[in-house]
Amino acid sequence: MELLKEKIRQEGKLLSEEVLKVDSFLNHQIDPVLMYEIGKEFVSRFSDHNITKIVTIESSGIAPAAMAGLILGVPVVFARKRKSLTLTDHLYSAKVYSFTKKETNDISVSKDFISNEDTVLLIDDFLANGQAALGLIDIAQQSGATIAGVGIVIEKSFQTGADLIRQAGVRVESLAEVQSLQNGKVQFVGEETI
Ligand code: 5GP
Repeated sequence: MELLKEKIRQEGKLLSEEVLKVDSFLNHQIDPVLMYEIGKEFVSRFSDHNITKIVTIESSGIAPAAMAGLILGVPVVFARKRKSLTLTDHLYSAKVYSFTKKETNDISVSKDFISNEDTVLLIDDFLANGQAALGLIDIAQQSGATIAGVGIVIEKSFQTGADLIRQAGVRVESLAEVQSLQNGKVQFVGEETI
């Protein structure tokens, strides 16, 4: 998705050779116009499925997921990372290790909001080592829902996540695929190295 890649080129900051910061439009401040275009792109890529629900993880997956849900006219469910006082049992949960935060979180979704009658599209902001997406897949599988696939805003293709998800038999659609963050530069898959 060229619009997204251009935004990453202009505003992305390299925190290291592994971590890309996109706080100005996705992870802190949100660019709703870009998020809407991202939502449209997800909907178009998964138009071969009759999606009944979008499922994501708080917090940075919510903006793109909400736009896809708005366009499709279906609800958006976000997995919670912290146990809420009002979310006690009656939950699907999965363990997710975060390489950026070096901690394991239990993520959970109320059983009220996903069922075996749903076809779900799983959306997240970044795909690195795949733990967050695999956690969402685990939750969807517990519910018995059909998984249309995983939609990712930015995939870091030099990490293992995309392969792990495909090996689990789940389709992945990433709107920007980053080949490398080396030498202070974002290089996308399929781009010439200069
Ligand atoms: P994974 O579970 O695939 O290893 O990592 C995905 C999660 O970690 C995403 O939900 C995202 O919040 C965070 N993450 C991983 N890599 C990056 C990165 O380079 N930049 C940012 N901003 N977040 C990342």
